[in-house]
Amino acid sequence: MSERKKIIVAIDGYSSCGKSTLAKAIAKYLHYNYIDSGAMYRAVTLHMLHKNMVVAELNAMNPEEMKVFLNEIKITFHLSPETKLSEIYLNGVNVDNEIRTMGISDLVSPVSAISAVRKRMVEKQQFYGGHRGIVMDGRDIGTTVFPDAELKIFMTADKEVRAKRRYEELRAKGYRLTLDEVYQNIASRDQQDTSRSESPLRQANDAIVLDNSDLNENEQMAIALEWVNQAIEA
Ligand code: C5P
Repeated sequence: MSERKKIIVAIDGYSSCGKSTLAKAIAKYLHYNYIDSGAMYRAVTLHMLHKNMVVAELNAMNPEEMKVFLNEIKITFHLSPETKLSEIYLNGVNVDNEIRTMGISDLVSPVSAISAVRKRMVEKQQFYGGHRGIVMDGRDIGTTVFPDAELKIFMTADKEVRAKRRYEELRAKGYRLTLDEVYQNIASRDQQDTSRSESPLRQANDAIVLDNSDLNENEQMAIALEWVNQAIEA
């Protein structure tokens, strides 16, 4: 494995398509680092809440104020000794669970649409991929962050299927919410993410589409691994 060419795997797609499940599985298979770019935008949103700010205040910041705000945010990823998965830290504190709440999910799309926020996060993401050997998932990885990624996968699935999967995942973690709340959040984020002016969610021209509406995790992994091995051998 170590003699094989190292590549970048970029996985983009709609909300709650299972991007991170697939990305983690590919990273584990290849012994690559996995970076959840959505978690970074979620961490920025959490920092905004820690400062008791609302999105309108972020939007109204002048460049100097925005620079100060962004400089206060230190995002790092560390492997959990128990799960062996990478977890996100905001200013030294593990926030991997806190950033997945509906409160953050409801605010993250407008925060991530702010140009200065995107610019800073994209710089960091490109730094992580500097030596290749990385799997990153998000909305603009194949189009903006790594337009030269050797493998680009664009994931999609029926909205109802996505909402049901996400609902079950959140309920299993103990969150009390309705299927409709989850569905509305997914629909709203899809709409905002595809229509924003800065790096909107769209399929890169050279991305391969993976619709997993009727696939289980093993089936989608088997398909993706063929693409991964082809990209490495190419
Ligand atoms: O992937 P996840 O659903 O956790 O991402 C949360 C939000 O972060 C998305 O709905 C989107 O608004 C934003 N995002 C983004 N660009 C990325 C990754 C996520 O704008 N590369």
